[in-house]
Amino acid sequence: MSSNSLRVLAGLLVLGWLQLASAALPPTSSSAAPAASSSSVPAPAPWQASDMNMTVHQVGPHSYYVEGLLEEASRANEGFIANAGFVITGKGVVVFDALGSPALADRLIEEIRKRTDQPIRRVIISHYHADHFYGIPAFRRIGAEIWADTRAHAYLNTSAATERIAQRKEIIGPWLGPDFKLPLPDRWLDQPEKFVMGDVHFSLRHLGPAHSDEDLVMLVEPDGVLYSGDIVYAGRVPFIGDADTALWLTAIDHLLEIPARVMVPGHGPASLHPQEDARMTRDYLTFLREQMGTAVQNFESFDQAYREVDWTRFSNEPTFDAANRRNAYNVFLQMEQESLTK
Ligand SMILES: [Zn+2]
Repeated sequence: MSSNSLRVLAGLLVLGWLQLASAALPPTSSSAAPAASSSSVPAPAPWQASDMNMTVHQVGPHSYYVEGLLEEASRANEGFIANAGFVITGKGVVVFDALGSPALADRLIEEIRKRTDQPIRRVIISHYHADHFYGIPAFRRIGAEIWADTRAHAYLNTSAATERIAQRKEIIGPWLGPDFKLPLPDRWLDQPEKFVMGDVHFSLRHLGPAHSDEDLVMLVEPDGVLYSGDIVYAGRVPFIGDADTALWLTAIDHLLEIPARVMVPGHGPASLHPQEDARMTRDYLTFLREQMGTAVQNFESFDQAYREVDWTRFSNEPTFDAANRRNAYNVFLQMEQESLTK
């Protein structure tokens, strides 16, 4: 055997020993699976962990939010397309909206944990749309109580709810987990609610039907921060779905009566000028109603009406291509209904 091959052999022996030695080391705490050692260690989550990048913005002494991407849900964005807020009160944390999967909610919890070890006591759901409430199981797992407006009941047993779950399972299934079912709140609210936690006063108000039947907004009184859910969209075309746009416009007016220094919308950046920034949502809804209303009056088909409208005012907004045609169609149908009931 040459001296070279001896050296190689010695090297392999050392490598083998190192591998054996490292295998014999006790596992690190993160990889430990102490099934029987401690009841305080929670069972592993039934969903795949997310490493989504989440930047936390502070908008008041107690108030924060993370901003979802201005996109439609996809595998690449894991359904992180809506905002969520949290408020650190001194006696616990209140969260506003649960994000679009339990895995994303876990990421939010991780960010909250970097700032406080106070318990996360309560989660307020702005409305029952997938990107805002599918994260509920992660908060329930850590003992938070979930509140939502009772008008969300209308959504629970619809085919839209079932179809949405199937659609999301297809796109972001791993982060929902294999047994994901539509998560319910612990408490249904049926009237305006005020509560105090630590030294922070909260006020919850149902402003729907607007974007949904159950739209709920939260004012953090000492901070003047208003979490508005999807009644206002900042910087993207709203998702209209089957919303009643006439009632939605009224709700925007009511929203702007609430004295707020900062408004955190359900999508897009926080606004220091709620009045101005609500204008884009309001203008868009008004424009759709005018254009589609005229087409209905002239007995035009939807296709013809859609072709004839000059969309340049909104066509550069994020999600325009994905959302505008369906939005216009929904408003067209609605204007037909309104013309029949006039
Ligand atoms: Zn929504």
